[in-house]
Amino acid sequence: MSLLPGCFCCDQEAAEDLPVRERVHVGDGWRVAHAFDTSLPGWLVVLPRRHVTAMAELTDDEGAELGVLLVRLGRALSRVTGCTKTYVMQFAEAPGFGHVHLHVVPRMADQPEDRRGPAVFGYLGVPEGERVPEDARDRLAGELAAALTA
Ligand SMILES: [Zn+2]
Repeated sequence: MSLLPGCFCCDQEAAEDLPVRERVHVGDGWRVAHAFDTSLPGWLVVLPRRHVTAMAELTDDEGAELGVLLVRLGRALSRVTGCTKTYVMQFAEAPGFGHVHLHVVPRMADQPEDRRGPAVFGYLGVPEGERVPEDARDRLAGELAAALTA
């Protein structure tokens, strides 16, 4: 795997003993983590396990694995969070976060009007006190991991 030291995503990939919230799923080409700075339980981030800055750099095999993974994550999120569907987005524009990452986000039945569509990003980058706590992220990650293999 080709990693870029200093890249947040690559450094996480290189770390040993990642908590379950950082490895909801680890496949050949992709790792799934629960977003750390969100207030929405179940907000997932899907990351290539090597340093890639554009979808165009992915191999066909990585693309095929990603397609199936997105569908399975949608099913797992539906089962675990009760969401009606999932949003999928990829920008990698934030400074220090140029490593490709797809946001896979549960859209809840009661999601307020002003948090639907692109406005769902109001749930990301929230202050520390509003974030889903680590233990809750670990618990959700475990449930999602189990649902993925069910
Ligand atoms: Zn990277």
